[in-house]
Amino acid sequence: MRDDGLTALRKADDEKIRQSVAVADVPSLLAALAALTGDVSLLRPEFAPDRAPMAVDAGLDAERLALARDVAARTLLRLRDGEIEPVADLDPARLRAVMRYLAGEGSDEQAEFLAEELALSGDPGAPDWRKDDLAPGVDFRVLVIGAGMSGLLAAHRLRQAGVDHVVIEKNEDVGGTWLENRYPGCRVDVPSHLYSYSFAARSDWPDHYSDRDTLLEYWRDFADSSGVRSSIRFRTEVTEAAFDEEAGVWDVRLRTADGAAETVRANVVISAVGQLNRPALPAIEGRDSFAGPAFHSARWDDSVDLRGKRVAVVGTGASALQIVPSIVDAVGSMAVFQRSAPWLAPAPTLTEPFPEGMSWLLDAVPGYAKWYRFWLFNQYAEGLLRYARRDPDWRPDASGAPRAASAANEELRARLTGYLCAQIPDDPQLRAKVIPDYPPASKRMLRDNGAWIAALRRPHVELVTEPIERITPTGIAVAGRGEMPFDVIVYATGFQAGDFLAPMKIIGRGGVDLRARWDGDATAYLGMTVPGFPNLFLMYGPNTNIVVNGSVIFFSECSARYILEAVKTLLKGPHKTMEVRPDVCARFVDEVDAGNALMAWGAPEARSWYKNRHGRVSQNWPFSLLEYWRRTREPNPADFVFD
Ligand code: NAP
Repeated sequence: MRDDGLTALRKADDEKIRQSVAVADVPSLLAALAALTGDVSLLRPEFAPDRAPMAVDAGLDAERLALARDVAARTLLRLRDGEIEPVADLDPARLRAVMRYLAGEGSDEQAEFLAEELALSGDPGAPDWRKDDLAPGVDFRVLVIGAGMSGLLAAHRLRQAGVDHVVIEKNEDVGGTWLENRYPGCRVDVPSHLYSYSFAARSDWPDHYSDRDTLLEYWRDFADSSGVRSSIRFRTEVTEAAFDEEAGVWDVRLRTADGAAETVRANVVISAVGQLNRPALPAIEGRDSFAGPAFHSARWDDSVDLRGKRVAVVGTGASALQIVPSIVDAVGSMAVFQRSAPWLAPAPTLTEPFPEGMSWLLDAVPGYAKWYRFWLFNQYAEGLLRYARRDPDWRPDASGAPRAASAANEELRARLTGYLCAQIPDDPQLRAKVIPDYPPASKRMLRDNGAWIAALRRPHVELVTEPIERITPTGIAVAGRGEMPFDVIVYATGFQAGDFLAPMKIIGRGGVDLRARWDGDATAYLGMTVPGFPNLFLMYGPNTNIVVNGSVIFFSECSARYILEAVKTLLKGPHKTMEVRPDVCARFVDEVDAGNALMAWGAPEARSWYKNRHGRVSQNWPFSLLEYWRRTREPNPADFVFD
């Protein structure tokens, strides 16, 4: 019998199908069924979804939801019984109709952008060339720094193109941030189906939002199944890379697993070291004097038994938000030190597994997982961007205090404040502490399922908002309260994100040290290339982080394609090097700065790790995902000087 992917469906009885559909995500299931059967009439106007990221049940009322589920279930039954057949290839007009149903009316360009992300057939982002066809016999080597999400992707693309490469990884395994962060409760706050490569989608994610172990397993599996692992040198660290102007190549100095120094040559260097890999410990007086165990969230010390202990958690960012509810049952008592309250965006399924029926459908209905991902992607692509835009003239507060950044941002503020208050009906003091005094989206909004406030409300937990004065051998001295004694201190205080590429030394043309030149204010054209540093490319570089829309994996996929196209240009010759023009980079930085100035996180008073010590937003991309995709499809030769 021919394999049309419906084997599991054919074995299911009516009840299984109806029960599964009852817990399925409806818009994406209807889209998947329309694409599978070619019957776009399934996408009735009354089933048109509300695409706003915060819409409940895609805005469908109970009646329309029930009807839509019934239509989906009956279609599945007919497919099972062979009354309708899957179509082998969906024609472009009908594909567009299905995309329009989930994503709305859009330009041809947007359709192309979305179709690529949808990756219905294979891997549209793969290089369509091979090194041996372009430059047979030419010695050409690429060195990738880091085997996290971006580095694995770069290596995979190079492998697909047949370009010789090596990946240098300081850790003993792949996974980057997902290897290093293993604190209790660690999980991603982007939906699982989205937080994965578009071309290596999984239909069987266990949870709506993957926990750390599941993600680490994904990167490990990818490294193995793609063959990339064989090109990685583990427990080896890049200490320095220096451009040899005469030869037009990079000399990369390594510290090997046994501590020896070694130099390797590469035509191209790709840095994929991430933004969040060097912990930032707070500069609090007496920090080193604490006699008990004290560690950073990203250096979790498993040997410390927290049971019954008096624990201090410093910080209330994304890491603390996961740690505190995860250890609350074990600790004897806990004080959470908050400098500024985080905004919380509701994500009720944050720690939930997929219902069994949804998992079954994702597996049993060909294409459903891809359309589900597409639906999430579309919601996240613009995400809350509209609410994060800043109107510099907007001053509704009589005091002039910028509690919101625009009318839309105020609307978001009201919703999120309501969400917080509803969880604390009876404790005005705690309520006052947890409502942020700055506009939402000034810093990262955190996804929440209620566990944070529930933990803070426990009798043995206190949210401390008085400033920390100093750390003593036995505890933390707090302004106006004296010393609070602790057995353990956890620093959930973030990362040295602004110091891009630290601690590596990167020496470009004329012996210029990149980090010295940046002087704490990293800039790069499209986040990837820097004048004076030929053939050096950065992934997840300056101004490629997102705050309220998309996932960083999207940016890495765009960057990998752009960099591979640059490698192709170099392989084709006759030039050995390409270097972005200073005026092109400067214009780009001006544009990005102007864009960030119009976002909540770019307001002069906003304070977060998105801004570097000069006050410039050096982390974030202020525009849409479509815009980054558009600009990174391939390098424009006019942007570069070739040598
Ligand atoms: P973070 O967001 O930078 O939060 C650090 C926290 O420590 C903030 O509350 C900060 O207060 C506080 N802090 C820093 N220095 C302090 C000091 N001297 N005294 C008192 N408090 C101090 O760090 P993070 O929570 O590790 O998260 C970093 C990033 O990693 C996130 O933004 C996110 O991109 C990523 N992340 C993601 C996930 C996820 O996907 N679920 C989980 C963890 C991390 P202020 O706010 O006042 O500065």
